[in-house]
Amino acid sequence: MPDNCLFCKIIRGEIPAEKLYEDDDVLAFRDIAPQAPTHFLVIPKKHIKGPEAVQPEDEQVFGKMMRVGNEIAQKEGIPHFRVVFNNGAEAGQTVFHLHMHILGGRALNWPPG
Ligand code: AMP
Repeated sequence: MPDNCLFCKIIRGEIPAEKLYEDDDVLAFRDIAPQAPTHFLVIPKKHIKGPEAVQPEDEQVFGKMMRVGNEIAQKEGIPHFRVVFNNGAEAGQTVFHLHMHILGGRALNWPPG
């Protein structure tokens, strides 16, 4: 886990976060700057720099992120939600540790801006 990665620091407990779920493979926590009434992130504990870096051995944890994200969304009362992965700076990625955004609780426009 890289020393200077923000999300690795959250995993290690060095930076606080409002955790929603945690197990050996994944961690979910609320986004610090929510873009919808409910906005949380699901990340693998393994440091993967982004969607483009997902390897065959990561396929199981990638699927788990989706299952866990959906279960949290249902508990949070957002049966309709949006899933976002930003890949690369021009796509809006600012933290280079793979993360799945889940947003809901308001109408979401399509296509996104
Ligand atoms: P992205 O722009 O796709 O890389 O998303 C990074 C997300 O991480 C943004 O939505 C930020 O608001 C969020 N974020 C940054 N720092 C923190 C933090 N300390 N705790 C929770 N979320 C954070």
